[in-house]
Amino acid sequence: MSVKLTDRFGRVHDYLRISVTDRCNLRCVYCMPEDGMEFEPDESMMTFEEIAAVVRVLARRGVSKLRLTGGEPLVRKHLEQLVSMLSAVPGIEDIALTTNGIYLAPRAERLRAAGITRVNISLDSLRADRFALVTRGGDIRKVLASIAESERVGFEPIKLNVVLMKGINDDEIGDFLRLTAERGLTVRFIEYMPIGHADDGWRNRYLPLSAVLDYCAQAGLTVEPAETVYGNGPSRNYRIAGAKGSFGLIHPVSDHFCATCNRLRLTADGHIKPCLYWTDEFNVRKAIGDDEAIERLFCRALDIKPENHEMAQALARAEQSHTPTSRRMSQIGG
Ligand code: SAM
Ligand code: SF4
Repeated sequence: MSVKLTDRFGRVHDYLRISVTDRCNLRCVYCMPEDGMEFEPDESMMTFEEIAAVVRVLARRGVSKLRLTGGEPLVRKHLEQLVSMLSAVPGIEDIALTTNGIYLAPRAERLRAAGITRVNISLDSLRADRFALVTRGGDIRKVLASIAESERVGFEPIKLNVVLMKGINDDEIGDFLRLTAERGLTVRFIEYMPIGHADDGWRNRYLPLSAVLDYCAQAGLTVEPAETVYGNGPSRNYRIAGAKGSFGLIHPVSDHFCATCNRLRLTADGHIKPCLYWTDEFNVRKAIGDDEAIERLFCRALDIKPENHEMAQALARAEQSHTPTSRRMSQIGG
């Protein structure tokens, strides 16, 4: 195999997050505005063939893990076909899916057969009315059915992504932890990130994840370090003593993990993003058909990849060293 994709700071990149669409069937409050969101026309979306062409080049340079995300990846038609194409690429060992779970249950078996091995399902509240408010209209029953179906078809691990927000769902920490006691699920609490947020709503809702460990201490819960759950990346993992499942903390704002970043991102309209936070991106679509040109673009992206993001500086209203992205999370894929 040729030389691995390494940046100026010695970080080896073996993981690509692929956004397959910027569209979504929900409008989560932290991700998209209620209305006024403009979506890319269909012809701007990378085709499955183009995505597979990029993955083939990267797999030769050591990328072995993929995640399909969006927008909502399951609004992209025939996603199973893309999964089959990607799982046939030599060197690709693992294909995960991040989804809001609304459309997952009826397609879980086909996605599993096509090559999805594990899923992350976003679920910010266990209360139906609150879930509907956070997602602006989502039906929690569909998500719960998708979690049950994911267990049945054997996705492993199954992770629930919970963006913790002050005054919105921070009173549910205990309920989510109880869920890990009863079922072999991994709950991943995630700090609310300022991605494409021009207003101040974020700062008022942001909550450092020390709140989760504080809750455990106050509730007298015994917390043990947990083994790494496969594919956990930056998450710090714990278990309530005796629990079947575990929980993870992803705290990019209060304590970033950029020193171990191994990920590259491909947007639905074909831009390489070396970092989630900054504005820099490279249009890979025009290089399709020339594998060396694709490779060169990724190398250029890595050459300018900054050492870290500056979400903490954003929280403190301190000066930033580069320009933050104006794309919303739904346009990048998380
Ligand atoms: N639609 C899918 C879903 O919701 O799982 C995949 C795309 S979504 C952009 C990927 C992840 O990003 C979700 O877990 C979502 O909760 C998270 N996310 C979106 N905006 C966020 C923000 N501002 N801060 C932290 N996480 C965010
Ligand atoms: Fe859609 Fe996911 Fe963004 Fe929610 S977090 S609006 S489900 S893309």
